Amino acid sequence: MRDFETIVVGGGASGCLCALASDKKVTIIEKDNKLAKKLLVTGNGRCNLTNLQVDDKYYNTSIKKYLSVFDNKKTLDFFNDLGLVSYSDEQGRVYPISNSAKSVQQIIVNRLSKTTPFINDTITSIKKEGENFVLAGNNDSYSCKKLVLACAKCELLDGLKIKYKAFSPSLCSLKTQSTRNLNNIRVDNVKVSAENNLGQKKSEIGEVLFKESGLSGIVIFNISSLFARQGSFCGKVTIDLLPSLSESQFLQLLEKRKGLDVLVSDYFDGLFVKEIAYEILNRLKLNENRSCKELNESELLRIAKTIKNLSFDVKGFYPNNQVYSGGVCLDDLDEKLQHKKVKNLYICGELCDVDGECGGYNLQWAWTSGYIVGKSI
Ligand SMILES: Cc1cc2nc3c(=O)[nH]c(=O)nc-3n(C[C@H](O)[C@H](O)[C@H](O)COP(=O)(O)OP(=O)(O)OC[C@H]3O[C@@H](n4cnc5c(N)ncnc54)[C@H](O)[C@@H]3O)c2cc1C
Repeated sequence: MRDFETIVVGGGASGCLCALASDKKVTIIEKDNKLAKKLLVTGNGRCNLTNLQVDDKYYNTSIKKYLSVFDNKKTLDFFNDLGLVSYSDEQGRVYPISNSAKSVQQIIVNRLSKTTPFINDTITSIKKEGENFVLAGNNDSYSCKKLVLACAKCELLDGLKIKYKAFSPSLCSLKTQSTRNLNNIRVDNVKVSAENNLGQKKSEIGEVLFKESGLSGIVIFNISSLFARQGSFCGKVTIDLLPSLSESQFLQLLEKRKGLDVLVSDYFDGLFVKEIAYEILNRLKLNENRSCKELNESELLRIAKTIKNLSFDVKGFYPNNQVYSGGVCLDDLDEKLQHKKVKNLYICGELCDVDGECGGYNLQWAWTSGYIVGKSI
């Protein structure tokens, strides 16, 4: 058994920030052979490390009081002091100027190598023995007085008998009925509206990528949190393919397009790609081999309604989730992110029941919570 004052389990974003921010000596136990390895895949390899518009509305819960200690600006100053130069795009997303997540990971690893011992081991269970935490790992066992759990979704909480909300994948692609005919088609500037089985709703405008049996893209990732937080991926997603036109404006346009005098199969050319046109015609069971001039008022209305409400039944998720929703509720933690019932136990990052939208919000929570814990231990 190896004894330590403070152990951080998990050398990901929040655990590393915690160790960097702390004035005390901490030891990180990480199951990967490198620290902050996951950072390399974030932001499509570019690491979208925060957003200039961080706000409660992008999260499932209020994190205002924590942001008042360490917000996006302080995060950027912190990284700047480490030597990282960053820039933001038109949506406020912040990236390293190198456009490489490696820059963020390397700067963290290099700085930590001077101060923080790192043990490569997987912790399999934790229990409290008197004042100490006792951790069993695959290679060794450890004890410490203060314990930081920064290991994202994991079962280690069970040994400490603390309650938490079940984890559910979030920010992922959605499985729906077959969309084979639309596979790999992208539609941009569409409005996606979703409703889960609890009647909760969410909508967003942006790009959707169709898969063989489902929907993907950043908007869908954000929409997926509605189902993740419900704990089941059941409900409906509706896509308005032309949100800039009202239904009546669109009807007028359809009426006018009858003057094109083309076959129904070509009637949508210039509006949508053929795959979308065929999807509409299939759904409405319209004969495509007649002149569009023959389309009557009720058919035009059905076309307009379908294009503005292309609906999909949500039947599950794809395991490409960026985060997990669920974890330890902030109500059970104090302002230092110490557990109210288990003294000297600190929780940070994704293991807290905090999940945000795509755009740098999840890493921001990892930095914010890691910093607060680092300064508290
Ligand atoms: C593909 C992808 C892209 C993403 N892109 C972005 C983005 O651009 N911007 C953004 O804001 N967010 C992004 N995220 C989300 C972001 O990466 C997470 O929110 C963030 O990493 C959470 O930090 P964390 O420290 O809580 O967990 P993690 O970074 O996951 O770190 C947890 C660490 O604990 C270790 N660990 C787990 N269990 C054990 C154990 N039993 N023993 C020892 N070690 C253990 C893990 O190996 C891991 O290193 C992305 C996620 C993914 C998957």
